[in-house]
Amino acid sequence: MAGGSKLGIASNGQAEVQARDLLARMTLQEKIGQMTQVTLAAIVRPGAGDGSPPRLDPQRLRRAVVDFGVGSVLNVSDRACTFEQWRSLVGEILRTAAEDTRLGIPILYGIDSVHGANYTLGATLFPHNLGLAATWAPDLVQGCAAAAALETRASGIPWAFAPVLDLGRQALWSRFTETFGEDVHLASVMGKACIQGLQGESLRDPARVAACAKHFIGYSRPNSGKDRTPAWIPEHSLRELFLPPFESAVKAGVRTIMVNSGEVNGVPTHADRRLLTGVLREELGFEGVLVSDWEDIIRLKRVHHVASSFKEAVRMAIEAGIDMSMTPNTLTFCEALNELVQEGVIAESRVDQSVMRILRLKLDLGLFESPPSSPGLAGSEVRRESIRLSLQAARESLVLLKNEGDLLPLVGNYRLLACGPGADSLPALHGPWSYTWQGVDESAYPAQLDTVFESLSRTAGGSRVIHVPGTGFDDEIDIRLAVEAAGSVDVVLLCLAEPLSVEKPGDIGDLRLPKAQLDLGRALMGVGKPVVLALLAGRPRLVEDLVEGASAVVWAGYPGPQGGRALADVLYGAEEPGGRLPFTYPREPASLWTYDHKHSEREDVRLGMDAYQPLFEFGAGFGYTRFEYSGLEVGTLPGQGIEVRVCVRNVGDRAGRETVQLFVSDLYASLTPPVRRLKRFRKLHLGAGQRESLEFVLDRRDLSFVGLDNQWRFEPGEFRVEVGGLSHTLLVE
Ligand code: BGC
Repeated sequence: MAGGSKLGIASNGQAEVQARDLLARMTLQEKIGQMTQVTLAAIVRPGAGDGSPPRLDPQRLRRAVVDFGVGSVLNVSDRACTFEQWRSLVGEILRTAAEDTRLGIPILYGIDSVHGANYTLGATLFPHNLGLAATWAPDLVQGCAAAAALETRASGIPWAFAPVLDLGRQALWSRFTETFGEDVHLASVMGKACIQGLQGESLRDPARVAACAKHFIGYSRPNSGKDRTPAWIPEHSLRELFLPPFESAVKAGVRTIMVNSGEVNGVPTHADRRLLTGVLREELGFEGVLVSDWEDIIRLKRVHHVASSFKEAVRMAIEAGIDMSMTPNTLTFCEALNELVQEGVIAESRVDQSVMRILRLKLDLGLFESPPSSPGLAGSEVRRESIRLSLQAARESLVLLKNEGDLLPLVGNYRLLACGPGADSLPALHGPWSYTWQGVDESAYPAQLDTVFESLSRTAGGSRVIHVPGTGFDDEIDIRLAVEAAGSVDVVLLCLAEPLSVEKPGDIGDLRLPKAQLDLGRALMGVGKPVVLALLAGRPRLVEDLVEGASAVVWAGYPGPQGGRALADVLYGAEEPGGRLPFTYPREPASLWTYDHKHSEREDVRLGMDAYQPLFEFGAGFGYTRFEYSGLEVGTLPGQGIEVRVCVRNVGDRAGRETVQLFVSDLYASLTPPVRRLKRFRKLHLGAGQRESLEFVLDRRDLSFVGLDNQWRFEPGEFRVEVGGLSHTLLVE
């Protein structure tokens, strides 16, 4: 693809000088154009509606890129394209910028590659972040992210809007599946691994992309559970829980960050100078590009009502610290910002700051090179490795939560009925952001992928597995037939599945799965055959008494394209279910806890301390072997923190995976302490009889909390350390 700069810029580590030199030649309008991002849909011809690839509209393209000097384009017009289609589309946009604009500054194309290059047909998709978090394997997450980077870049796209670093602490929220779960430590570690995978050592590596940590900050905990609605998070909690994943991302060198579309404590984040400039830039030292979310400057007036005009909204967002406006359908941002600078309301030097950050990123990504390098994917080995990683991630993400009488693994000649809306559906395995935004368009999925039913038939032999749907996602299909079929088999696999949705369309008023699915479950439980319940969902959807009725329960989340095979491997015992829950699974719709709740939340109606009764605990899950912990030793390190040693042994008769989780409780503190908090974890793979000794070092910050003065503080006193059911209390001065 073509796209060289007219200035002949070669980015060779002198990006700062080069960017400054370029900036000095730019007009105000050209600068503002660089700060503007439009959607692909705004520059293509109206879709034919027949699934044919988008075609650029030369007039709309010229108006945006040439007349307004737009510097960035994002996403898809409505559905995924092939690698070749992407390269040709992006290439044409780059060519227009290179050849038809005065300075030939390249376009920065960005896309939501949130679980693989999910808008590229033929790319490898992976489990969503919640499933990746359930693997508790940061190396694996890094590998999946590197594969996603490669396939995004091979599509000609150098910027991925990932990872989501919001914490999943509101089960109702429609983007729960995009988070790395509820815990701050787990999300920080996984977020860092993902960024390292996406960005690698250097953005000059043509197989990497710039990452985008999102959505800074507090987006994931709307009080109502509805997307983009108010969060009320006291500043000290914001800093203790929601800030550290971003802090760790900035330390890991994340190049871009996207802003929260909602509001925190009454201030829409897009207008929050204190958070965007004070905390993110001045405290955390973030030097990269801060991009708005979709239409969020417009929403400061239209939805949030803090600006009485669009121009006022632009002023607020720029003063707050935003560098790039995802406008994304209009060019009014350019006009408004131009007027604000002409009128002296916004200093041109403020515009220069943002443009410098954007130019530096473009230089570092090598976009000024002609043609920009792009990795080849011709080698089937590359694809094989991505698929292997996707399968491995899916296997390690499946969480076995119940296994009465060791029903699983199924060894022997069992006949199986696979039913429920997840049994023969590719969307149910993938979740949203799969080929289309909501992921519901079944026709967009590659035909060669196997559903759960197809994978089971392949593994066990077609004659041993039958399929009757029973229901769709929302509606009954043939429950009576499913019940009859259950009578003819040995085991029923009931794949319940959440109707796919994300962002605003995913707002729900009830955590329970649709009635038709619950009816199917109850009818099947009545047959008297053992039921294995597999839960395919992006958030902890409730299934009432079905968990009690099932003999085995597997949480599968959205395991991705290899999810069917992974489930078959686990059910038939070729693989261990390697996952542990990265969130607390509620039992009742109105008892939404996190594992690090306060002691008072345990107080029950009889004034005992038994109120905390989630369906499944954070960290829960087991495999087909057993592990024993012994020799817990905890000691203080002078002036530092504590040192923990423990030994783990596989006492079963087969190899297996164990996730060692180390929790700390500050027993008494001047602010009510959480009951416990995860501080370290390690995933082990041990053969039968094998043992491993582990050592962990915790520092002062691990024993601290954020006080009402919004500072981290350590208070000497008693701390309890818990690992694998063992615990030790010690005094730390
Ligand atoms: C989402 C972002 C996403 C952006 C671009 C927004 O609606 O909140 O997560 O990156 O759209 O698609």
